[in-house]
Amino acid sequence: MKPVAGCAIASGMTTSAAFLDEAAARLGPRGLTRDPDLIAPWLTDWRGRFTGRACAMASPGSTGELAELVRLCAAHGVPIVPQGGNSGMSGGATPDESGDAVLLSLRRMNAIREIDGEARRVTCEAGVVLQTLHEAVEARDLRFPLTLGGKGSATVGGLISTNAGGSQVLRHGSMRALVLGLEAVLADGQVFSTLTPLKKDNRGFDLKQLLIGSEGTLGIVTAATLKLLPAVAERVVIWAGIPSLGAARALLLHCEDMAGDALEGFEVMPRASLEAVLHHLPAARSPLAGSHAWYALIEVVADRSTVATLRERCEAMMAEAFEKGLLEDAAMSASEAQAEAFWLLRESVAPAERERGPAVQHDISVPVEKMPEFVEATAPMIEAEWPGTEAVAFGHLGDGNVHYHIIAPDVADGLAWQQNEGKAISRRVHDLVTQWGGSISAEHGIGQLKREELARLGDPVALSMLRAVKHALDPQGLLNPGKLV
Ligand SMILES: Cc1cc2nc3c(=O)[nH]c(=O)nc-3n(C[C@H](O)[C@H](O)[C@H](O)COP(=O)(O)OP(=O)(O)OC[C@H]3O[C@@H](n4cnc5c(N)ncnc54)[C@H](O)[C@@H]3O)c2cc1C
Repeated sequence: MKPVAGCAIASGMTTSAAFLDEAAARLGPRGLTRDPDLIAPWLTDWRGRFTGRACAMASPGSTGELAELVRLCAAHGVPIVPQGGNSGMSGGATPDESGDAVLLSLRRMNAIREIDGEARRVTCEAGVVLQTLHEAVEARDLRFPLTLGGKGSATVGGLISTNAGGSQVLRHGSMRALVLGLEAVLADGQVFSTLTPLKKDNRGFDLKQLLIGSEGTLGIVTAATLKLLPAVAERVVIWAGIPSLGAARALLLHCEDMAGDALEGFEVMPRASLEAVLHHLPAARSPLAGSHAWYALIEVVADRSTVATLRERCEAMMAEAFEKGLLEDAAMSASEAQAEAFWLLRESVAPAERERGPAVQHDISVPVEKMPEFVEATAPMIEAEWPGTEAVAFGHLGDGNVHYHIIAPDVADGLAWQQNEGKAISRRVHDLVTQWGGSISAEHGIGQLKREELARLGDPVALSMLRAVKHALDPQGLLNPGKLV
């Protein structure tokens, strides 16, 4: 069924007006607004690249209310764009410009239903913000082992729908590995629920995994049961100066050998990125006296049984790395405040790079062992093909995933450069990534930003499977149209 026309805020009494009246009656004033001032802040994506329109913003307070709204949308053919914290990087939560869609905010559904310390799991609603979740479980001496720079905004529903990664994937995996159970409203308003997790369950497909990473195109996540771990007793963060990206990879292998499961994070950045961060954060200091071509941030944790020897083991690990020539210098955090300060340097790379000027950004992965070679081969290629640009790679080396930014030469009109040259550069980067057997979206999803590129470069068999699943679960195409598939 085609979405109804004339649903935009300024429309007159059309079919959609009947829909809006009924939705308003069912959801009440807290659950539905058509006030443009209240809706406007949520119509532009985090990076400011996409702005859309919506006929209304719905904020249901429960799974039952949400299911009722979805049934109503299905009956009237009204598209739905789910949105959590709107911190996504691919424009996935921004409606198109038609104004036909309902923007569906999950932010009111923010209850933590149960923290089960013994079973080490939490059941919470989709609108719970990641930082709130961290704090709630920490108060019970537990932790949820996924974190990322947008934790103050990103919601559980958004994290699940984008299969978010972050800086602990090396040890704990992305959201896919941490979701034990799921509750979601399907396109026809039925509620799919597997909130009570089973360790073993072989009754066919793992359907919750279909919904994880589906970016709101197959169903709307309303709640989830997530895996928890005992709180960390202590952590050490090491800041290492290293000669090359190849040495960083060798250092990673060394740390994996020596620290085993205690190794939680391994991030890298080049000298240019650290300099940009120090310019961006005038109060920040480089942890090392000298200058190095690359830097690695390494996090090692201990539980209560291993805490006594943590520092000693980290010192031995670094001393051996130094002897093997894998690092040139290193500093180890002496306190939690210092650990935070080291992480701040890493988390400030993206805003610092933005301050340097216009750039095209890519979130790419190749097989972990090939990443140094990929960056060393392709960065000079891009810089030669687009003179004056600078290719900068930083991020999750341990996952074979870097953020690969191509910074514009000094140009008068950065926006025009991004739209013209930038587009051609992105196609080139994505071609190279595909040739190296990698992914054009390692952790940020496809959204509307990379939809054309996925269609251009995706494996035809995989694409036809994606489309078949989408058609089977959402035959009217009302769930987040124009995104992913
Ligand atoms: C500073 C910063 C750092 C970041 N670092 C990382 C990082 O290291 N790793 C990483 O993976 N991401 C990172 N992100 C991206 C972002 O935080 C994640 O993509 C996050 O998962 C988005 O959550 P959200 O609630 O904001 O979702 P939104 O942006 O609101 O939505 C994202 C997508 O999920 C869909 N969606 C949202 N909620 C639901 C729901 N309940 N049901 C169905 N679909 C839904 C939307 O339609 C959209 O397609 C970062 C973002 C920022 C701002």
